[in-house]
Amino acid sequence: MTRIAIKLQKIINEIRHAEAEARRASHSVQLLAVSKTKPSNIIIEAYQAGQRHFGESYLQEALLKQNELAHYQITWHFIGPIQSNKTRQIAQHFSWVHSVDRLKIASRLSEQRPRDLPPLNVCLQVNISQEPTKSGVQLSDLADMIEHVSQLPNIALRGVMAIPEPAQTFAQQKQPYHVLYQAVQALGKPELDTFSFGMTGDLKAAIAEGATIVRVGTALFGMRN
Ligand SMILES: *Cc1c(COP(=O)(O)O)cnc(C)c1O
Repeated sequence: MTRIAIKLQKIINEIRHAEAEARRASHSVQLLAVSKTKPSNIIIEAYQAGQRHFGESYLQEALLKQNELAHYQITWHFIGPIQSNKTRQIAQHFSWVHSVDRLKIASRLSEQRPRDLPPLNVCLQVNISQEPTKSGVQLSDLADMIEHVSQLPNIALRGVMAIPEPAQTFAQQKQPYHVLYQAVQALGKPELDTFSFGMTGDLKAAIAEGATIVRVGTALFGMRN
């Protein structure tokens, strides 16, 4: 096995273990491999070890790699900040977007989604650290945003994404995810089935609080270049 294959297996084992500890169904959590800053040959290594979902944060870099990897059956997720002038290419070249935090961006993605592709899967990024400078929908605005985004024709609103402030203890790591999970459940919308929670440092806590997608970069590919 290659180094990446070994790390991939280790992370998948950790995910299965965390699911069991949280008394959640096996395979209820999916691994998104965050490949930003990593070259295409590293992505191929993970692909050959079985990984199919990859996350990218920088559009130009992602488009270059998508071009190089056009013959692989990869599902691409956009997870980075989105400026208005980037929405067209994101709508054209990704299956998922985790980082939608404004109605204007969601509307543009819907308008610009090519009609021959299935609806774009979208998660709303929620600011659960309550810091005015951080990007993300405020929790108090979430219900309204969901109402509006749900009505866009070429988007499938799937759920929420969060990047909490780093926290030390397991309890502190779980707390913001708990709050957001409960807030979404309270809306009673079964179509919101995706909780994009957790990265290398807090994957276990995220799975304990309902994550269905964990976004892992460093643990899989090492420090970023
Ligand atoms: C880079 C990034 C990740 C991966 O973080 P690691 O700590 O390297 O696992 C996850 N989510 C988002 C939104 C990112 O930008």
